[in-house]
Amino acid sequence: MIQQECYRIYNKGLRDRVIKRPDTCANCDRLCKVAGHHIDYNKPLTVEWLCHRCHGEADSRRNQRIWNERMDKLDSTLLPDELDEIMFTAEQIAERTDIKIHTVRYRLSELRREGKVKSQQFGTTYVYPPSVVDKVKDYSGKE
Ligand SMILES: [Zn+2]
Repeated sequence: MIQQECYRIYNKGLRDRVIKRPDTCANCDRLCKVAGHHIDYNKPLTVEWLCHRCHGEADSRRNQRIWNERMDKLDSTLLPDELDEIMFTAEQIAERTDIKIHTVRYRLSELRREGKVKSQQFGTTYVYPPSVVDKVKDYSGKE
């Protein structure tokens, strides 16, 4: 199931009160407007209710896990649009390229500014599809 379809079912579940949003974060117990974190996009109504900060951390962990799983079978079976569902953070890109994090951040912001990379923003965090890794590695602009 693709991510958008998962969110569509999740949002309908909330509207129809099939699932109910609690008042506190399941991880840190903070009282706030929590969001549903999907551990598995194939289970749209199974979520962990998390505050903004815990949600960001949980998303990176899940994306890292998906990335690791997909890398294991990258040789043959992956379709391009499946690959596109895997998004990761600047930290994860730095880890993979062995380039210092502040350099990665700079290159990403330049590539974004020039319209050369696709990104999605979650709160204050940008996430990127795998194709960005090579663009960061091969970056040849001013630094
Ligand atoms: Zn929390």
